[in-house]
Amino acid sequence: MKLYDTRAREAVDIIPVRERHLTIYACGPTVYRDAHVGNMRTFLLSDLISRLAQLHGWRTTVVQNITDVGHMADDTGLGGIDEGQGDGEDRVLRQASDEGKGALAVARHYEDAFHRDLGALNVHPADHYPRASESIDDMIDLITTLMENGHAYIGNDGSVFFDARSFADYGAISGNRLEELRPGHRFDGGVDPAKRFHADWALWKKAPETRTQLVWETPWGVGFPGWHTECSAMSLKLLGESIDVHTGGIDLRFPHHEDERAQSNAATGRDVVRHWVHAEHLLFDGRKMSKSAGNVVLVQDVIDRGLDPLALRLAFLQHRYRQQMNLTWSVIEGAQTTLDRWRSRVAQWATSPSAPIPDNYREEFLAAADDDLDTPRALQVLRSVERDSELADGAKFEFFAWADRLLGIDLARRVGQVVDEEPLPEAIAVLVEERAQARASKDFATSDRIRDELAAQGFSVTDTPDGQVVERS
Ligand SMILES: [Zn+2]
Repeated sequence: MKLYDTRAREAVDIIPVRERHLTIYACGPTVYRDAHVGNMRTFLLSDLISRLAQLHGWRTTVVQNITDVGHMADDTGLGGIDEGQGDGEDRVLRQASDEGKGALAVARHYEDAFHRDLGALNVHPADHYPRASESIDDMIDLITTLMENGHAYIGNDGSVFFDARSFADYGAISGNRLEELRPGHRFDGGVDPAKRFHADWALWKKAPETRTQLVWETPWGVGFPGWHTECSAMSLKLLGESIDVHTGGIDLRFPHHEDERAQSNAATGRDVVRHWVHAEHLLFDGRKMSKSAGNVVLVQDVIDRGLDPLALRLAFLQHRYRQQMNLTWSVIEGAQTTLDRWRSRVAQWATSPSAPIPDNYREEFLAAADDDLDTPRALQVLRSVERDSELADGAKFEFFAWADRLLGIDLARRVGQVVDEEPLPEAIAVLVEERAQARASKDFATSDRIRDELAAQGFSVTDTPDGQVVERS
């Protein structure tokens, strides 16, 4: 499997440090508002990498953080190095005051919405979703280590800063080398007097006395973490000192990922993340999504229009993750048409006897996916299989069901039918289990014989990527 490594500036082979076990850290949401579809496209990236690894028979461990403290209103991740170090307000706190609620109540509300949206897009849940507010001890440990080994200092205002000049390799991901970085433009006079050097950033910020929520007691007084601190602390704790792949949106390259890399490497003396992989921006109707442009689209908006959120997922897959993509309603509607057609074909093919997937199609699909997640090309293989008049329907079914393990668009979902929810009679359940075993060992003859037997007893069975769906016929 090859992925485009932003630091190497080329697509490189991904070889897990632990044999056949890929570890992925994905920068997650700041939970102060609903994630829009552009955010969701970024969150899809770690799911695709993880699904592809699993298709190769590897294990995966995925960690995605939940930022519920420390992300300031001016932390855009774009522009000057000083972004995020100013007197901007914590995004969660500001939203809480707007909504007249407690900070954590607001954070949990948007965290739930985030999980609901991931579910709607068939994103497999990560193994861990650490919250920044619950990882404060880990951050304190990290900062203590950085102070002990000379990479961090207490500034004039009582905050703790990372000493950027102590990390010689700063800028390797984004190309923003320290000597080229100008003092931030947002501060009058250009330089924050609390720190020694304009490119230093806060690991821990001293809280103003007016701040009563999201503050913690530390060896350096009462305060709260800087945004970049959490990702180093959580990734080192949950994935260790060698992490195979780190994902995020392209705008996180700098300063978020540069700062995170400096912290993790300075704390451990190792190059912790092997590959930094970034998802490109999504435009909607040709423009960056923003409140002021009035073009912010949520997953719920897609559902409210009567569209399947997996049509949105298919629309994303029609573009490679690191291609800038212009989404429109007609793009999603077009994807819905394709999805409906494929699902009804798959349902039809499912009634034919199973047949093995021809190797050439399997290889073409994998070659496209392995080539830096070239999902548009992988989808072309589905079209070739669909059109192949020589290929048995049962083989088409098996191919689509297999490919859906990566695509995750529920190709074997039955359109317009409700799964029977009554428990199956004992004898039928036994047959279904025997058929599952036959399919697992690729004994399609037995599997088809059992299907006929079930049909004779009044039960129809459909194969889906998640197993068999049995209905009273
Ligand atoms: Zn992060």
